[in-house]
Amino acid sequence: MKHFASLVATFNRFAGGQMALAEVLDRNESGIATATAILKQRFGDRLSESASVREQHGHTTTWIENQPPDAVVFARSTEEVAEVVKVCAEHKVPVIPFGTGTSLEGHVNAPAGGICIDLMEMNNVLNVNAEDLDCVVQPGVTRKQLNEHLRATGLFFPIDPGADASLGGMAATRASGTNAVRYGTMKDNVLNVTAVMPDGSIVRTASRAKKSAAGYDLTRLLVGSEGTLGVITELTLRLQGIPEAISSAVCSFDSVENACNAVIATIQYGIPIARIELLDALHMKASNAYSKLDFEEKPTLFLEFHGSPASVEEQTEAFKVIAGEYGVGAFRWTAREEERLSLWQARHDAYWAEVAFRPGARVVSTDVCVPISRLADCVSETQREIADLGLVGMIVGHVGDGNFHVGLLIDMGNEEEIASAKRMVCSLNSRAISMDGTCTGEHGVGQGKMPYLDEELGGGVTIMRAIKKAIDPDNIMNPGKII
Ligand SMILES: Cc1cc2nc3c(=O)[nH]c(=O)nc-3n(C[C@H](O)[C@H](O)[C@H](O)COP(=O)(O)OP(=O)(O)OC[C@H]3O[C@@H](n4cnc5c(N)ncnc54)[C@H](O)[C@@H]3O)c2cc1C
Repeated sequence: MKHFASLVATFNRFAGGQMALAEVLDRNESGIATATAILKQRFGDRLSESASVREQHGHTTTWIENQPPDAVVFARSTEEVAEVVKVCAEHKVPVIPFGTGTSLEGHVNAPAGGICIDLMEMNNVLNVNAEDLDCVVQPGVTRKQLNEHLRATGLFFPIDPGADASLGGMAATRASGTNAVRYGTMKDNVLNVTAVMPDGSIVRTASRAKKSAAGYDLTRLLVGSEGTLGVITELTLRLQGIPEAISSAVCSFDSVENACNAVIATIQYGIPIARIELLDALHMKASNAYSKLDFEEKPTLFLEFHGSPASVEEQTEAFKVIAGEYGVGAFRWTAREEERLSLWQARHDAYWAEVAFRPGARVVSTDVCVPISRLADCVSETQREIADLGLVGMIVGHVGDGNFHVGLLIDMGNEEEIASAKRMVCSLNSRAISMDGTCTGEHGVGQGKMPYLDEELGGGVTIMRAIKKAIDPDNIMNPGKII
């Protein structure tokens, strides 16, 4: 395969006047055939070429087309991953790491074919070092599996992207979610990874030490690299003590601006809130219908407070005062675990509520993040644009971080609607970037956000290209993503 061989075509992946230059990757037919044959011999039934398995390992979540790999290998150890990568390196064949496939921007697609390495059979928790508040896991362990495993220890892993994603995939996408406002993102919670690099070598990026000044920060280079620099085969993660007291609440506002302004003030006052999530009025309608709830169909905040009983009390009182200044309606509180879990399940099912709201439509789930002071402007301008374009779109977000998602529900048979949606996605990204924000706070770049990186980072993308080229000169690791 010739890497980044030719800028053969410009194609209109994102309409609305913004033409994206797309690097068209050549398929290395003979290399793929040879590597597949070698790996078939080595892995037998643990290599699948079936159409359905290949399709499940391409992109399946949003309107981005499915581009399946040529074969899927189900790996069971770091050494097996290294074997696969070495064969692919020798024959210059793309390698696409795969966790649970919940990424939203075409991350796991194989635009030039190649071999997908499914890591879900590497699903052991290797070590829990309770006294050091860390653990070591294989990449196929999911966040729910880890928290189940930790249940008796009084510890938990706080990063929670809604989907029960793999920890390897979460590290690779630098995921965050509802708890990030208090506990940070994967960037803050991965201490060390073991990774198979594009030449098949196995490297460890750090140690279990809580901090290190030992040279370049390779851990953070791999976290967020979306499988384009190596395959993560082991992770050391920070853990947190389960808070003594947890209290959740739901409250609504008359306008989305008021809801956002209450969030902004909460963050500016330094209230250490654990979760503060916005659903706009249309999303509340969708979530009420899907999760069988009876909340008001108004802009709504879902909140959670963690700490000692006294600190939770103090935080809730402070939040009530702030929210009161923005005309908050009645609160519904719960400290009972069962009720809290079902409340947050409804929040986590937001994506499925969107899917169910307009049967037959495809979902576009796009995220941006802005400095907290620009949150209200960005959300309300976005809502206006959705209305002006006559689209069906709803907003849900981890607003404590200035991060929100727009779920557009598109009739894929309606060309005009598709064009409007593409225009909307383009201007949403530009709006966030113009506010000194980012085109993705947590979903990552994949294929979908590639056109916006230059606008956001300019020369920074040149450095990313140089790093990629130095580490992966033949561009075999998840080609056609990020840059
Ligand atoms: C309903 C729903 C809600 C979501 N909510 C959130 C949210 O709140 N916050 C958020 O951040 N995301 C969210 N997402 C997106 C998604 O869950 C995250 O991006 C998640 O981190 C992807 O993990 P995964 O295991 O599914 O990875 P995959 O989709 O399998 O892979 C994602 C990327 O990581 C690479 N990769 C996977 N495993 C490895 C590995 N071991 N080594 C190297 N590269 C690897 C892949 O090649 C690909 O580029 C949501 C998705 C859905 C469907």
